Amino acid sequence: MSQLPRIVVLATGGTIAGASTNPASSARYQAATVPVSTLLAAVPALQSVARVEAEQVAQVDSKDMVFSLWSTLAARVQHWSAEPDVAGIVITHGTDTLEETAMFLHLTQACPVPVVLTAAMRPSTSLSADGPLNLLDAVRVAGHPDARGKGVLVVLNQQIHAARDVTKAHTSAVDAFVSPQGGPLGFVQDELVRLARTPAHAVAAVLPVPARWPDVEIIASYAQPGRIAVDAMVAAGVKGLVVAAAGNGSVHEVLIAALKDAAAAGVAVVRSSRTGAGHVAIPPVVDPDAGVFLSAADLNPYKARLLLLVALAQEPGLAAAPDRLQALFASV
Ligand code: ASP
Repeated sequence: MSQLPRIVVLATGGTIAGASTNPASSARYQAATVPVSTLLAAVPALQSVARVEAEQVAQVDSKDMVFSLWSTLAARVQHWSAEPDVAGIVITHGTDTLEETAMFLHLTQACPVPVVLTAAMRPSTSLSADGPLNLLDAVRVAGHPDARGKGVLVVLNQQIHAARDVTKAHTSAVDAFVSPQGGPLGFVQDELVRLARTPAHAVAAVLPVPARWPDVEIIASYAQPGRIAVDAMVAAGVKGLVVAAAGNGSVHEVLIAALKDAAAAGVAVVRSSRTGAGHVAIPPVVDPDAGVFLSAADLNPYKARLLLLVALAQEPGLAAAPDRLQALFASV
């Protein structure tokens, strides 16, 4: 019998490592308290799937994610990816910012072996906790030959998603994660791992992990917005602004005026959509006035912010090269 794949689990916290004194409640609990050794011990089936070893990289509620932890995580992914006999890496994470960490890794990691993020909507102590199966499925995917070359993946609720596309779309349901543009890449059903399609943007890995992180923020367009926030952020030295615009990238005229001033001050301005799905038209197709600002393509505001952040960290002058910045949004 051939040897089981060696899989490294990097634990960062989240609800998957959450605990409560009330098993009947999935809402009242403390995230990020259970050590990874306990999470692994709760899933004896792992032993027949992989040779698993684990590292507790952090123990945080992912709502409190910080850049320094992303840098640490990237370094640990690179370290373990370079070990000759490691077949794949699993990262346990909180669901709140999982899509951001996944996008960060998508943008910065070459992924010579599969990198699979997983999480849970219910704490480990709850009735019908979803973490154990998600963890087992993530290890199955990380060790599967078909997952190679697919970039960073996200496995929850028996579905396999591309890191770039996946988003959390429900406050509490176990099927909270969706890929609004093209759906999941595949599924896991017990030992059957089926990757039905290749991600449209399989492996980005075009940008280095920032040594310094510029200020890049998100604002939203809605009825009668003020321009106070934009003006204050520009005065504070913000380098990039992503607008969670209405519909197909529409921005309220009050914000357009403020954002034009921001752009004139050297701030990179990118329009994403607050709708949750679809592409924002490349300017100036929709609104010639709003067209002065770039399009995030189909990236949601949080993922667009990640790309702008990492791109401006690599090249601060990119705000003055809108054609190149727009090309990056179209290609990553
Ligand atoms: N607040 C938790 C976290 O993101 C939620 C979860 O994991 O479901 O860490």
